[in-house]
This record gives sequence, C-alpha cells and structure tokens, in this order.
Amino acid sequence: MREIRLVSRPTGFPTASNFEIVPSPPIELLPGTALVENLWLSVDPYMREMMDSAEWWPVGAAGEGRALGRVAQSLTPAYDVGTIVFHTQGWRTHAVVTPSNSRRIDPVPGVPLSAHLGILGGTGLSAYVGLKRVLQLQSGETLFVSAAAGGVGTAAARIARLLGVGRIIGSTGSAAKAKWLTTEVGFDAALNYRDGSLVEQLAAAAPDGIDLYLDNVGGEHLAAAIDVLKPGGRIAWCGAISTYNGDSPVAPRNLFDIVGKELRLEGFLVRNNLDLRPELIDFLTPQLQSGAVVSDETVVTGFEHTVDAFLAMLRGENTGKMLVQL
Ligand code: NAP
Repeated sequence: MREIRLVSRPTGFPTASNFEIVPSPPIELLPGTALVENLWLSVDPYMREMMDSAEWWPVGAAGEGRALGRVAQSLTPAYDVGTIVFHTQGWRTHAVVTPSNSRRIDPVPGVPLSAHLGILGGTGLSAYVGLKRVLQLQSGETLFVSAAAGGVGTAAARIARLLGVGRIIGSTGSAAKAKWLTTEVGFDAALNYRDGSLVEQLAAAAPDGIDLYLDNVGGEHLAAAIDVLKPGGRIAWCGAISTYNGDSPVAPRNLFDIVGKELRLEGFLVRNNLDLRPELIDFLTPQLQSGAVVSDETVVTGFEHTVDAFLAMLRGENTGKMLVQL
C-alpha cells in the first residue's frame, strides 16, 4: 500500500522532485468502512492549483483526487467485496472509504469503467454543465472550445454535436493534435495556438464570428475569444490552465469589451452542479454503448508513473482524459 505525497511546493512548472512515493500508514478497518484497491486514478489540472495552497494540499500529505477501485474488504453492509466505487482520496494504491464519502459505480456493458473518470465523470460533467446550463447551447450555434484535445475539450465536442451545435472550432498546442481533432473528434476546424496569432487563426476559422466560448485556458485564449465573439455572445469559463503555473496574467487585455459587445461571461464549478450527473449518464450511456460517442482517453500504466502522467498532462502530451491504470 503506497501513496504519493507532496514534499515541496512547486514554483512555476512542477517537477518529479516535488513528490515522493511512500508506504501508506497501517490501515485499521473500522465498522462502517471498506478497504478499496484502486484500479484507476485521475490526474487533473486543478491539482496544480491545490499545490499552491497549504489548506488544500499540505506539504507532507497525499492530496485529494478522483479514483475508481474495487472493494477488497468490507465492514459496511453498503458494499460487498468486489463492488466498484468512486472516491476522491487521490493518488494512493488503496483507500479506506465509507458509503458517505464514496459512491457505488454500476458497470454497464459496452461502457469502459474508465469512462466514469472521463466523459461520464467530472470531466464530461464539466463539459455538459458548461454547454447546457451555462451557455444554454442552441441548435446551429458556432462554438469555440480551448484545450480542445483534452478531457473536457473532447467531451465538449462530442456532447455539443449531440445537442445540435452548428460549427465547432477547437484550439490545441500542436499540429498533430489539431489534425486529430478534425479527423477523429468531430471538430469542424482546429487551430494550433503555437503557430502564429491565435486571434487571426480564430477569426479565419469563424469569419462570421462565434456565438459561444467554452474557456479551459484563460489568458490570451480568452482575449482572442472576446475579440471574435459576436455581440451578445456567451462565455462559460471552466478553467485557465495557461495561468496555473503563474506564467501569464489571468485577466484578458480586452476584458472591458465585454461591456461594448454586451457579452455574458459566467464561471462555474462542476462540484456545485452534481445534480446534472444522472441526466448526463442517461444521455451518454446509450451513445457510448452504440459507439456513437467514445470516451477519449490517454492511459498511463503503473502507480509509480502517476506523477509522470500528471506532468505530461500539464505539458499537453494527452489526447482526451489523462488517466493512470494501476
Ligand atoms: P486536459 O484538457 O485534458 O489537459 C490539460 C491540457 O491543457 C493539456 O493537454 C494541454 O493541451 C493544455 N495546456 C496546458 N498548458 C497550456 C497553456 N499554457 N496554454 C494552452 N493550453 C495549455 O485537462 P482537463 O481535465 O480536461 O481540464 C481542462 C480545463 O478545465 C482546465 O483548465 C481545468 O482546470 C478545467 N476544469 C474546470 C472544472 C470546473 O469545475 N470549473 C472541472 C474540470 C476541469 P495542449 O496540447 O492543447 O496545450
């Protein structure tokens, strides 16, 4: 039984030396709890934000994080041995859970278990909340998505297509990923933000402007979207990964154009929109079973490679949701 602890706070881009793998403290299973052997771990951008906070991730401790595992021993009638559960106890090989801090997952034929950390999990739910509740996507509208080749970005494209989007434009950090977005994921156009002016590329891809922007990146991406949005356009602000390592300002240079163009910008946290999860699961499960929708994932194998997977995700080496299989 092992866990990954933060040993020092990163300044700028994190490195492997900020973490260590250590044996977990001995576990005493109490009545009402169950021992879970983890099968899948999630590595997420918000963890980088947590690493800056003594409250959210104390040095010397393992952080929180989404995981799926199988019950190995149970002292609660809620879980039999073998039950698959979701919990948020982070980067560890085993976890002690209670029914109130974990959730049973009922595997569905034709749907990979890992999808419950991807398109059916918090990642897909972020896309769904952004598109449905915040942007209130209308049929035929033009949507721009940043970090388009990642977990939220790919889920957003696949869900937006089902919701009747008109045109979808994505941005990503390499030509190969941009090509993958149009050939495999269903984007109508894709930009490589490292290849020249983002705002010029976006304007060329959407000559009539964009109606909607799902922002995963912030900074210059948000500024470009404000420039290209039609008057009255809507922005759902999901994340700002270009700023998490402290390397660019959070506020866009043209924030006040939101007034001149009468745009709407609304931020959201997926954890405050969990009421939509059953709706998302009902909506997507048949699509996944039929193959009409896939759960885009990059899988790294082995607990000892969890930090590598996290750092690779921050560098953009993933397509779809970055996951670790134990
Ligand atoms: P992800 O997109 O799968 O992975 C992160 C991606 O960000 C990388 O693949 C990389 O792709 C891109 N990236 C890294 N540095 C960048 C930079 N400086 N500029 C532009 N792109 C950069 O991660 P995810 O889990 O789906 O999360 C996406 C965003 O949603 C994050 O901002 C996250 O914080 C946010 N989020 C918010 C909520 C919420 O409740 N509001 C919930 C989940 C996620 P490229 O190769 O394209 O650069």
